[in-house]
Amino acid sequence: MVMGRPSNRGDEERLPLRGVLETQQRAPGPPPSPPPAHHAAEQLKEARRGGSRLWRASVRAGLLLCLLTVPGVLLLLRWQADSSPQWVFDFEAPEEDDDQDIQDDMSDDLSPSPQIAYDRLLGGLLVEGFDEKSCRSRYQFAHYQNSPSIPSPYLIERLRKQEALQKKCGPGTKAYKEASKQLKSGQSVNVTDCNYLFLIIHAGLGNRMLEITSAFLYALLTNRILLVDRYKEIADLFCEPFPGTSWLVPSDFPLNNDEFSQSSPESYGNMLQNKVFGENTDRSLAGNRPPYVYLHLDGIYGFHDKLFFCEDDQQFLQGFSWLIMRTDMYFVPSLFLIPAFQDELSRLFPEKDTVFHHLARYLFHPTNNVWYSVTKYFRSYLAKAEKRVGIQIRIYETKGILQRNGPFPHILNQILSCAQNEKLLPEVSMAEGAAAETQNNQTAAGTQNNRTIAVLTTSLSPWYSDEIQKKYDEQPAVDGITVKVFQPSHEEYQRSRNKKHNMKALAEIYLLSMSDVLITSGFSTFGYAAQGLAGLKPWIMFRSENHVIPDPPCGRAMSIEPCFHQAPSYDCKAKKDADLGKVVPYVRHCEDVSWGLKIVNQTHL
Ligand code: GDP
Repeated sequence: MVMGRPSNRGDEERLPLRGVLETQQRAPGPPPSPPPAHHAAEQLKEARRGGSRLWRASVRAGLLLCLLTVPGVLLLLRWQADSSPQWVFDFEAPEEDDDQDIQDDMSDDLSPSPQIAYDRLLGGLLVEGFDEKSCRSRYQFAHYQNSPSIPSPYLIERLRKQEALQKKCGPGTKAYKEASKQLKSGQSVNVTDCNYLFLIIHAGLGNRMLEITSAFLYALLTNRILLVDRYKEIADLFCEPFPGTSWLVPSDFPLNNDEFSQSSPESYGNMLQNKVFGENTDRSLAGNRPPYVYLHLDGIYGFHDKLFFCEDDQQFLQGFSWLIMRTDMYFVPSLFLIPAFQDELSRLFPEKDTVFHHLARYLFHPTNNVWYSVTKYFRSYLAKAEKRVGIQIRIYETKGILQRNGPFPHILNQILSCAQNEKLLPEVSMAEGAAAETQNNQTAAGTQNNRTIAVLTTSLSPWYSDEIQKKYDEQPAVDGITVKVFQPSHEEYQRSRNKKHNMKALAEIYLLSMSDVLITSGFSTFGYAAQGLAGLKPWIMFRSENHVIPDPPCGRAMSIEPCFHQAPSYDCKAKKDADLGKVVPYVRHCEDVSWGLKIVNQTHL
């Protein structure tokens, strides 16, 4: 459905025509004197001749006008079609009191907290100067969220430097042309001022946001420019983050991304194993240096691939102008364990558990169609509630091949127990007929309770939200608050290569991030992305085993950071496996993935 403001195209088409007729009627010269009566016939002929001249001139002028205006009108129509926001969810949003849409500037009264002044540059993370219309979310995001944290001045300084580097070395520059020419030639490429990290993007949307953020931080720490895969709908989902340049790798990039895998001979792990750089303890670039190194940090990666997280290997990798990375992970916690990066990371993030929060808000700006759907949905259903509770339901269980997302009654019970035990949702009154009685009492007393809690659920299945709503409809909340449950989509199954599907997923991650409190499903990067953007510590629902609700059903997260699921456990100095969740106080094992690592703010423990 296209939802735009009414077009004023009709007016624009009529105005020039009126101008032409007026020009014809007001021909230059003295005004004609009144004609004598016997010249009436002549006059009539003359008038006809004049009329037909006028007619021919008008037709000619009309044709000329058509020739001149039609392309313009077509362009305008095309522009309007392109710029009319599309609703990414499948049902029609209700009309609002204010019919303001994304093409208008947002006024403060649309924000959840109209009294709170908002900082459109997110504490200096963003710079002025981007075109606002082509990417509304960039400067409007602050309307919808208050960050609990301020980015450090040093982070801001480094972001500006990174932007300058991206511009100096990015696509279209002399430096990029030279570097890609060398890459194509297959010869070794010398390290210059312009060194590159190219990220191959894949996996679900939460994973993608985590991998891009990790790669960006790594690029920043190693003074490389970040380029991302252009073929994975990235441009349909996110606006460009860096001013005056593009982060999308040009289409004539000389390497074929699809060919990289764990078995690629160019992978760092394989080159180490095959002793391409000499013995492991004595790596050397003296021999025939390859033009790039492929870093396979993906899925089940091997021991040698994981040496990427060792200090010596990092030093060695500095000798390559091009790094190609494939990852689906939030590997930031392991960067915090590399001594060479620790000082810099502490300066960048004095509050250690804000890495994803700040970098995601810096990097990700949903494109207009996604943003329009987010804001429209928020304003239609969530904005007026007293409290917004986000519940992210991700199910990893199966029951037969068709029942990937349930319905699983034990998961519904887990959600309700978590929400009610933790007082995130009100308890329901268990007395029979309580719904009717409460309503009668309220009506009789003339005290209709208008307090509402809006629950935003996200799930591939509609069943859980329907059941939660049913529970509160059948048995009202004990304190008379109305609970309304909303779920923007139910896609049934994951389709990571489908543009609209990904747009919905992104819109829902942003809607979740606008909650006051969050309940997430453990293990899910979808939930990590939402909590990180929001800066909220969620209540994590632990994974159930054998369809039994865990006890307790959920627990409060230690920090707002995502978990690094496939974290290595190799102690590079001691050269043996160790418990890396005990090396520094600010990197711990995750609540939901016992072998994973996450950053915590040690002052908050
Ligand atoms: P993870 O697999 O839970 O770690 O999260 P990802 O986001 O990486 O991958 C899951 C993908 O499944 C998402 O990107 C969506 O494509 C889809 N998906 C899962 N849950 C939801 C949901 O609640 N809403 C929508 N719209 N899509 C979902």
